Amino acid sequence: MVSSDEDYRQAEQIVEQYPIEQYQIKPVYTGGNIAFFEENVFLVREDILSTSMSIKDFFFKQNMNTNDFGKINILTNGDVYANLNHPTLGNISTQSIDEIVYKELEEGKSWLRVRDQAPCNNCLYQWLCPSPSDYEVAIDRSNLCHVKQ
Ligand code: SF4
Repeated sequence: MVSSDEDYRQAEQIVEQYPIEQYQIKPVYTGGNIAFFEENVFLVREDILSTSMSIKDFFFKQNMNTNDFGKINILTNGDVYANLNHPTLGNISTQSIDEIVYKELEEGKSWLRVRDQAPCNNCLYQWLCPSPSDYEVAIDRSNLCHVKQ
């Protein structure tokens, strides 16, 4: 988990020092490091155009969130979430999986969260960009890019 350029440099040093073959570096939004995100996470036109995508992905992204669709999180108290950043769908001790899935499809905010809000809904890259992620929720912006302000 890295939240600054310094964190990133340290992570790289650790990977080289020990040599670690399999690792992931994930940016973390702290509420005070938007400049780090703007520099390292926000998309630019070239990122979007250089990403390969099948026609299937293209249509999938118009209808479903590729990060969340089909995922269910069950906490130890039984509360169920399609995405932990969104309201609970109920509790597994009182509701069936069918009821929970139905609720997410009917009222939920996660599985069907697509780029249909401004400014993405007026953007040429609307269905080429990745589905909205948890970063959009954390930063409270519907687009994390330098294409549109
Ligand atoms: S405005 Fe939205 S759709 Fe357009 S490039 Fe930015 S994130 Fe992608």
